[in-house]
Amino acid sequence: MPTRVCLIHYHEIGLKGKNRITFERRLRDNLEVALAPFGVTHVGRISGHLLATFADESRVADAAGAAARVPGVARVSQALRCNQDEAEYCAAAITALGEVPSFETFKVHARRSSTNYPLHTLDMNRLVGSALCEAFPDKKVLMHGPDVTVVVLATQGDVYVYASSQRGVGGLPVGSAGKVVSLFSSGIDSPVATWMIGRRGAVCVPVHFSGRPQTSDASEWLVQDIVRALGPAGIIGRLYVCPIGDFQRQIALAVPNKLRVVMYRRLMFRVAEGVARIEGAKALVTGESLGQVASQTLENINAVNEVVSLPVFRPLIGSDKQEIIERAQQIGTFDLSTSEAPDCCTLFMPRKPETHARIAEVHEAEAQLDMDAMVAEALSVLEYVDFEGCPSYHRPHALRRVQSSLAPAGWHEDLMRPRG
Ligand code: ATP
Ligand code: MG
Repeated sequence: MPTRVCLIHYHEIGLKGKNRITFERRLRDNLEVALAPFGVTHVGRISGHLLATFADESRVADAAGAAARVPGVARVSQALRCNQDEAEYCAAAITALGEVPSFETFKVHARRSSTNYPLHTLDMNRLVGSALCEAFPDKKVLMHGPDVTVVVLATQGDVYVYASSQRGVGGLPVGSAGKVVSLFSSGIDSPVATWMIGRRGAVCVPVHFSGRPQTSDASEWLVQDIVRALGPAGIIGRLYVCPIGDFQRQIALAVPNKLRVVMYRRLMFRVAEGVARIEGAKALVTGESLGQVASQTLENINAVNEVVSLPVFRPLIGSDKQEIIERAQQIGTFDLSTSEAPDCCTLFMPRKPETHARIAEVHEAEAQLDMDAMVAEALSVLEYVDFEGCPSYHRPHALRRVQSSLAPAGWHEDLMRPRG
């Protein structure tokens, strides 16, 4: 009896030469975690694919959907695993083709991969092809551009058969590109930006700035829901929350109205860089898109960027809003991001924010503040929430115990607390 399994295809990993084994292992580890809720029993390599098997075959379809969301996965096929028995794999091909919702034309594509199976692929094509022609007399064989290709893959000991695949998100396995700290609002853009960098293999550590105690903590709960929605991608192991309402109030009282937003961002970037030092992250990520709102002009981006020394990645800088919205819908964050929650962005907002901040004015205004003290205090009230599902995320304390000089001023491990 054939069993249902997931065959997981990847391509970029194939390009990585000597790193290939490491990348494959990482993808396998990530898939084991992502597929655990579906009762996966094993994920292992077979001839250029990863194979996932399950205790309960009725979970395979949902598991395939989850696997498709894991970075590094190019395609997922729900396949039937058969013995090297002609009658068995021909029957499996009939089952697989019968499950394709609608088609007029098909072809068979047999492949062999380091197999002990004696039959040539031409013979396998002919054999399976004639079984399918008999079972589907009103469908046509088409060698170029058929609606469906039935793949028959003979490996050592087994034959896998599938007639359809779903597209995966592509990219690289999470954990293959180090760690980044992402400035994570409850808006549409930053969750998408975070996901994009995660898809390129980075472990993402989001930091959310809330307006507490000047606003409620609604945005803090909302970002947790957004992080959970991103869960299947396996890119986030910990979220930091930093309440900056009181600092915003100090800023609002001390600097010209129009410069408030730039100043809030200069505070956020510095705190985020502090978190990056705590976490050993090597870059910051934002959801900025050129010209989208007042704060995202070149002048303002420069006025904020200059306060940090880490590279700042802005994966959406050239994207249109509609493209970002479509991506947010695809990754499951859009509905959450459009629900109402006051966050620090709406707090003490000037009526006319500066769109082209002049750096000299910004420096002059900032001289009215003790920015270093604010950053140190903000880092001392950091809270965090841990999430399951990102096996490549390593908590920072071990690193800092060895290299306590990396910890930013004002920050103490004892002060950091899980969000209750
Ligand atoms: P988003 O949809 O991500 O909120 P936005 O279009 O609202 O972005 P801005 O408010 O100018 O744009 O924010 C630009 C970027 O600054 C955000 O994408 C995010 O990376 C960061 N940012 C803004 N507000 C916060 C916040 N409260 N906490 C963490 N990061 C923030
Ligand atoms: Mg926003």
